[in-house]
Amino acid sequence: MSIIEELSALRKEVPSGVKLVLVSKFQSNESIMEAYNAGHKIFAENYPQEFEKKVNSLPKDIEWHFIGHLQSNKIKMVVPYAELIHSVDSEKLLYEIEDYCLKHGLKTKVLLEIHVAREATKQGFTMKEAEELLEKLRVQPLQCVTLSGIMGMATLTDDNVEIQREFTLLYSFYARMKQRHLQWPEFKELSMGMSEDYKYAIRLGSTILRIGTKVFGQREQK
Ligand SMILES: *Cc1c(COP(=O)(O)O)cnc(C)c1O
Repeated sequence: MSIIEELSALRKEVPSGVKLVLVSKFQSNESIMEAYNAGHKIFAENYPQEFEKKVNSLPKDIEWHFIGHLQSNKIKMVVPYAELIHSVDSEKLLYEIEDYCLKHGLKTKVLLEIHVAREATKQGFTMKEAEELLEKLRVQPLQCVTLSGIMGMATLTDDNVEIQREFTLLYSFYARMKQRHLQWPEFKELSMGMSEDYKYAIRLGSTILRIGTKVFGQREQK
């Protein structure tokens, strides 16, 4: 199927109230424009250089999300242009983004990335760490950064039971934190679900899907 066909089939599966973010890393501007011309305006990138290049060369009304690991020295390439940063994976990074925003008079929205997958390499907070950080921020709120919720990835596996177990863990944590932090009405997003597991994610309470290869096909590199 073409990008447009994949996209329109996918849209039928996504309930209203769930945001579809198309992950365009390693995809060409031409591919992105196919989706754009079919009316899709929300895309996500993983790498600051590529993010910056695409932001500058594609239509200005695209809503860009950032979903990759962000190093401190790359904050300036991402924060001014990102509608939402899904991948805040350390307390240090969160405060660095806050400092950057304070200094430049910016506001930005972020999600805390929670590690539930079995792979040791995936970054993020444990639920305990994230819970403690949120408690700390309740007492000493940030001024420029809005905490919009959490993001997580399931283990890359064919074991559907495991995937559902991990999504359930993420959902329960999200729901508990949302309830605990009613002082933050913006804390309402649960970013989970990719090409291979989005159907489970929808069923288990995702509010934002991040989908790449299902719509665009295989990526060109890596
Ligand atoms: C690449 C990536 C995706 C999209 O993965 P697909 O399997 O291509 O849908 C989603 N989330 C993150 C964090 C990614 O790095």
